[in-house]
Amino acid sequence: MRQERGILSVVSGFSGSGKGTVMKRLLEKYPENYALSISATTRNPRPGEVDGREYFFKTKEQFEKMIAEQELIEYANYVGNYYGTPRAYVEEQLSLGKNVILEIEIQGALKVKERFPETELIFLTPPSATELKERLVGRGTETMEVIEGRMKRAVEEAEYIDRYDHLIINDELERCVEEVHRVIQCARSRICSR
Ligand code: 5GP
Repeated sequence: MRQERGILSVVSGFSGSGKGTVMKRLLEKYPENYALSISATTRNPRPGEVDGREYFFKTKEQFEKMIAEQELIEYANYVGNYYGTPRAYVEEQLSLGKNVILEIEIQGALKVKERFPETELIFLTPPSATELKERLVGRGTETMEVIEGRMKRAVEEAEYIDRYDHLIINDELERCVEEVHRVIQCARSRICSR
């Protein structure tokens, strides 16, 4: 029997929205259903981040070569660094029947939707702006200057939220994970039963 292709979803959220934790838990709970794309970036690794696990860490020159050789589905500049989605892994996992999730920012999300209109766009938000800042500061991995840049970017990004198919409030981890799972399962049965 031919393997049914998985579907592509994007999960975005303000920096500090907790989307990394939500994705980690989703994959822990449903490892058979999902694959998380690993992006390439020019930003420096945070303590504990491993090349090829959280990101493929690249120099600007290496990244620009990936763009020129059309190895990326999309890429964007986010607060001074390039971020992009390598095509090969996404294609491979979709054809293995996995639902592939891209955890990317808004510009990239809109490009993906334009190219692949059936992509499900999900936006995660913390319950309030105060909580957002607390999470960013609490993470303790960025300087105040970087945090301010990311908060400013969150305000700019807020304008585009209505372009997303789903807005999910991340107030409680397990509830949020189940909601993301439900949305993707529904989209898959809708797309696949046509
Ligand atoms: P961070 O530096 O906090 O890991 O990521 C910063 C932002 O870049 C986050 O909003 C994250 O979702 C986004 N991002 C990560 N990978 C990609 C990617 O491949 N493409 C795009 N467009 N954004 C990405």
